[in-house]
Amino acid sequence: MSEDSDVEEITPSTNRLITSLRDENTRLNLDNAFFSQKNQQLRQQLLAHIRNQHKVHKVDRLIDLLKCPSCRLPNYDAFQINKCAHIICIQCLALNLEQQESKHWRMCGGDIAGNPVEYYCPKCDEPILRAPIPQKALAGVVDVVFGRQTGEERRRRWLVALDTFDFIQM
Ligand SMILES: [Zn+2]
Ligand SMILES: [Zn+2]
Repeated sequence: MSEDSDVEEITPSTNRLITSLRDENTRLNLDNAFFSQKNQQLRQQLLAHIRNQHKVHKVDRLIDLLKCPSCRLPNYDAFQINKCAHIICIQCLALNLEQQESKHWRMCGGDIAGNPVEYYCPKCDEPILRAPIPQKALAGVVDVVFGRQTGEERRRRWLVALDTFDFIQM
């Protein structure tokens, strides 16, 4: 009898506790769903960002390949060296070969007749075996990416290069 009355006495507060815990549980479940969704969104954003960075990085690398490795300017007048296959712009190539030539003649005391000059690739120092070849396909891509150079710019570039170094003597 006394047990029954005890149960009757605690039931209302136990009920309140159960209700309160149930409410709390519902609220936590809602929070959990909210944060799970938020977490999922952030993960998606992060992945998209990484993928985008990767794309930007790839484009940067491609654009880099269209620049002269020496002066870092768009390689409008690209020449390929035989046989290491390095590609360099006409002006940098002319300047470098001219420096090699003057160094050679300085070392040989200006004895032009008996001392043919050996030229080396400005990038890898491998001997240049034949006159460098213009890379027209690459120049076409450079035109598309960086915009076509004007005839005036092209003339000026070539005049500077040819003024510096005579490719016919190679
Ligand atoms: Zn250059
Ligand atoms: Zn080379």
